[in-house]
Amino acid sequence: MKVLVTGGLGYIGSHTVVELIQKGYEVIIADNLSNSSIEILKKIKQITGFRPLFKLIDFREMDEVKSLFNEYEFENIIHFAALKSVSESVKFPNLYHENNVGSLNNILECIKSNPRKNFNLIFSSSCTVYGQANKLPITEDSPVVKQESPYGETKKKCEEIISEFCKKNTNLNSISLRYFNPIGAHKSALIGELPNGVPQNLVPYITQTAIGIREELTIFGSDYPTKDGTCIRDYIHVIDLAISHIDSLNYLINLNEKNHYSFFNVGTGNGTTVLELVNTFEKVNKIKLNYSFGGRRDGDITEAFADCSKIHNELKWKANLTLEEALESAWKWEKNLNSKD
Ligand code: NAD
Ligand code: UDP
Repeated sequence: MKVLVTGGLGYIGSHTVVELIQKGYEVIIADNLSNSSIEILKKIKQITGFRPLFKLIDFREMDEVKSLFNEYEFENIIHFAALKSVSESVKFPNLYHENNVGSLNNILECIKSNPRKNFNLIFSSSCTVYGQANKLPITEDSPVVKQESPYGETKKKCEEIISEFCKKNTNLNSISLRYFNPIGAHKSALIGELPNGVPQNLVPYITQTAIGIREELTIFGSDYPTKDGTCIRDYIHVIDLAISHIDSLNYLINLNEKNHYSFFNVGTGNGTTVLELVNTFEKVNKIKLNYSFGGRRDGDITEAFADCSKIHNELKWKANLTLEEALESAWKWEKNLNSKD
């Protein structure tokens, strides 16, 4: 079974590629290396013993996408390729639109022009589409709201485009996965998250502080209406998240239906405060973290955690790994990265 993985050298993509190879899928990675390195291909080979096919392409370029579809035989696509920085998207909204929405449109155009082939597409969406939901845990029935950032807008827009496309085209079935907060790394510590510059996300900021790259973690806000005053999120191990893509793909492969489109939350169902996460990091890794409390970060929501019963009932997927395991693997990855510098 062949699978095209766009953005397959990135953080979530590379972990998914490893899981796919280990389950016997034949993988074609297509990436423009705008936020990843070709070195990841070697790491994938080190972990799996197998070097997947790699194509350097930019999904914004229609000619390149067309030649990818002509050159390789595949019907299954996991589409990770996108830009993902919320703050950068505020500075460069057009770039985000062109890259994230434009790339998807090019892929869909190629699917449309291959009407004799039936495609399955898994799309990387985000719980950001819910904004601050009124009811917690968040179910898929929660409304998708107007987005605060151009990044969030691209995720909302892409979901709408896929949903409409599936209604009109019988040769595509698709699932959007709304990720909560992916963290952690592969247990080998050979692949993990590689933040560009100063990390914006909590866990890479913590590991970089623990290793001494950053002086101190600032916890953004201590006066939220939560049990300890800090924000609540649903942190999911990247390996569990990777597996959810394979389960989603298998569901579509075995589906005897046309024009299918559905969307699922992918989280653990547990809400964790920033302070709880910091304490857990210190405990499992036996390390003292330098941190202090600061003001709230603009645009942050108070609380988001998933109701995962839909994906569990329909796709039989659930998260198996713990927060402790995720934070242990994140620290091992940071140490491994640093030892090579
Ligand atoms: P990442 O930046 O590590 O990986 C994305 C990969 O896509 C990179 O290798 C990059 O080089 C590639 N890419 C980007 N634009 C491309 C283009 N035009 N053509 C070809 N390749 C391109 O990001 P990630 O954390 O692995 O995220 C993967 C997906 O999941 C993204 O769509 C992201 O928006 C989504 N997502 C991520 C998170 C998160 O917290 N990491 C949360 C929710 C959703
Ligand atoms: N956070 C923090 N300090 C940091 C980075 C993040 O206190 O240096 C907090 C942030 O305010 C949020 C939580 O950690 O409450 C998760 O933030 P992240 O950016 O990782 O995810 P998101 O806010 O996109 O869910």
